[in-house]
Amino acid sequence: MTTITVAKGDGIGPEIMDATLKIILAAGARIEIEEITVGEAVYLAGNTAGITPEAWEAIRRNKIFLKAPITTPQGGGYKSLNVTTRKFLGLYSNVRPCISLHPFVSTKHPAMDLVIVRENEEDLYAGIEHQQTDEVVQCLKLISRPGCEKIIRYAFEYARQQGRKKVTCFTKDNIMKQTDGLFHRVFDEIATEYPDIENEHWIIDIGAAKLADTPQVFDVLVMPNLYGDVLSDVAAQIAGSVGLAGSANIGEECAMFEAIHGSAPRRAGQNMANPSGLLQGAIMMLNHISQTDIAEKVQNAWLKTIEDGIHTYDIFKEGTSKVQVGTSEFADAVIANIGKKPSKLKPVAYTKNVTITLPRYKRKPQAKKELIGVDVFVHWDGSDPNELAQQVQKLDAQDISLRMITNRGIKVWPNGFKETFCTDHWRCRFQHKSGQVIDKAVVVRLLSKCLEENIDAIKTENLYAFDGKPGFSLGQGQ
Ligand code: NAD
Repeated sequence: MTTITVAKGDGIGPEIMDATLKIILAAGARIEIEEITVGEAVYLAGNTAGITPEAWEAIRRNKIFLKAPITTPQGGGYKSLNVTTRKFLGLYSNVRPCISLHPFVSTKHPAMDLVIVRENEEDLYAGIEHQQTDEVVQCLKLISRPGCEKIIRYAFEYARQQGRKKVTCFTKDNIMKQTDGLFHRVFDEIATEYPDIENEHWIIDIGAAKLADTPQVFDVLVMPNLYGDVLSDVAAQIAGSVGLAGSANIGEECAMFEAIHGSAPRRAGQNMANPSGLLQGAIMMLNHISQTDIAEKVQNAWLKTIEDGIHTYDIFKEGTSKVQVGTSEFADAVIANIGKKPSKLKPVAYTKNVTITLPRYKRKPQAKKELIGVDVFVHWDGSDPNELAQQVQKLDAQDISLRMITNRGIKVWPNGFKETFCTDHWRCRFQHKSGQVIDKAVVVRLLSKCLEENIDAIKTENLYAFDGKPGFSLGQGQ
């Protein structure tokens, strides 16, 4: 018996959760349920996180969390509970299978059968954003080596365990050489440990186009958070419907299972919603807690129900579907099929023990880190970069001088183009004249000189070399 935490959520949440629990319990799931309330009611009671300390306690105690979709109220100040839960609990891996159910659910891609493994904790989702000038806001994109290693190794382990043949990585490292570059590099490193599994890398733009056009050429895909967020919805939709897909959020200690769709408030309380997405989440949960026998029974009963043409409104299609049913009738139809297998769709046979345990991250020996310059970001309302350069050069000293100014990353001084559009946000790069290492005190001195000269410095970024290799990008056009 495993105790799981259940949150029924908002909108269609309670209906689809009731249907899901009814099905898995009828199939013999050996679970005890501890229910918590999260979401809209908690937000509106003044808790901006949408979750109480008691609810956290239950989730952390039971470690397995089955969550229906919740409504994040409109307006500022409310934090997404999904993002918070994933990050607080270290749920680094988001696993989303997208499989078409042709010819029973209409899709342009009858042979699609892929799994997206999305990094779940970092990237632009660190939520570190700042307004820096009147015209410019910034969001920090954080990618870490441990984060890359964990998610990429997870993708390869998953592929091996599920008998899948290939892992594809998507990044945009032709542009983001440091962040996406690290993800790609770690992918190449870890791929060598899995010679039995094919590996490939695509630049995300053409990769995404290929995914939308010919998804059947992909097997397991691994990618940073934002790309994975967008593309996993695309993949689920082109497989048939976002209403059919579930996802698992896996951490070292805890795991959360859910449908990929939201709370569909307009459909709430009408016994209309399709419970399949949450049911798919629950099946992944049963596999995760080693109740593979039950997971298999439920999945085969569900496939049979879909194959029988018993469909909710969202996938109902005259011709292929037979009966249009509501949420609870759909659940009853699945229950009636427990013990049966589909005859045209491929029945599943799950292997025992599907948990993936990764080795603990081993910190690499520290590189030799040397400070070789500093970028000072300046808020300035002028338009001629030569004028700004003149002002900022007042900060030059013996050991450091202005080498470059960029605006939104494009070099505008020296030798900029007058055609380049400029905002009020300027990056002034200072380095030693002969590329030598500088002292950290230089940064402090630069900033205090900014104060004296009335230059509005909004932030600095240190320019480091690691083992002699620059750890920063050049200005575009530098
Ligand atoms: P949504 O996924 O709720 O709905 C999108 C469309 O899909 C709607 O037309 C809806 O009717 C339909 N749909 C979704 N699930 C369905 C189902 N099971 N059966 C039948 N039709 C279904 O997305 P939205 O409208 O953008 O968001 C509504 C709310 O959900 C928002 O408050 C949002 O913040 C929240 N949300 C929550 C989660 C989550 O908790 N994991 C995820 C996404 C959105």
